[in-house]
Amino acid sequence: MSLSIQHLVIIGTGLIGGSLALALKQAGVVKRITGVGRSPQNLHDAIRLGVIDDASDNIQQAVQDADMVLLAVPVAACAQVFKDIADALPEHAIITDAGSTKQSVIKDAQKSGLDMSRFVPAHPIAGTEHSGAAAAFPTLFQNHRCILTPSTETSAESLAKVREMWKYTGANIEIMDAKQHDDIMASISHLPHLTAFSLINALHDDDVFRFAAGGFRDFTRIASSSPEMWRDIALCNAAAITDKIDALQHELHDLRQALQTQNGEALLQKFTAAKQARDQWLSAYGDNI
Ligand code: NAP
Repeated sequence: MSLSIQHLVIIGTGLIGGSLALALKQAGVVKRITGVGRSPQNLHDAIRLGVIDDASDNIQQAVQDADMVLLAVPVAACAQVFKDIADALPEHAIITDAGSTKQSVIKDAQKSGLDMSRFVPAHPIAGTEHSGAAAAFPTLFQNHRCILTPSTETSAESLAKVREMWKYTGANIEIMDAKQHDDIMASISHLPHLTAFSLINALHDDDVFRFAAGGFRDFTRIASSSPEMWRDIALCNAAAITDKIDALQHELHDLRQALQTQNGEALLQKFTAAKQARDQWLSAYGDNI
């Protein structure tokens, strides 16, 4: 199938929406891209940087002749966006999203009355700690996974088109169930972000940051991510993240006990197991990170 998108409308023209726009422009598979957003300044930047062709502050008007619509807003904002566009979309338009949680977004789409056969939930597993159109770049998704979590109602035709679209960004596509996606992301993305935020908060009153070096910077890089985006992700995947917090607390409890009892053997076992697991992960998948 060779892809041709006549009019792509991106609601939320930030890092993810903007990077998809740039990648598809570079691939030459989209004729016109319209950005919809909140602040005129970000949309202005997006036009100036060639991320989008034009911008609109009227969401219903913007989507009325779209053949592809991408939601790339913080996940808790999706409910309102679905309600806003459900009745304004032309019959042939396909709708997709880039949200970091999938069950919540699917529920929001269902509640809005959207034609679910045309909705393909998606999550590109690539990003940076930066936000906004100015942070976008066309190679963001290259060689990274993009997970699609079609619902039982998603049509094969819609799924094929969205799959094709993400392929043009250089992403490797995987398809899975939305619950499985949310459980996996709670482990490898959501818990690490919450841990990084917590670590910074636990230490910042101590006036020690000026002594910190590369290890601390690497470990805490993701604590510079958008607080609004992460508030939404945390609330929308709360149950799965809570389970992972319990698991981490359990590990920290074990370490605390080993310290209190001066149990070097227990510490060595924990650290060795962690080093082996991380080294194995890097040697198996390091080229695709
Ligand atoms: P971002 O750079 O902050 O972009 C989000 C955009 O959405 C901004 O341009 C913002 O406008 C706009 N926006 C916010 N609320 C809105 C609303 N209610 N209506 C319309 N526009 C609204 O964030 P991002 O990193 O691109 O993330 C977008 C989505 O992708 C999120 O759902 C996130 O979970 C997901 N995601 C993020 C990453 C990552 O690492 N960053 C990776 C994969 C998926 P203003 O600029 O005017 O505020």
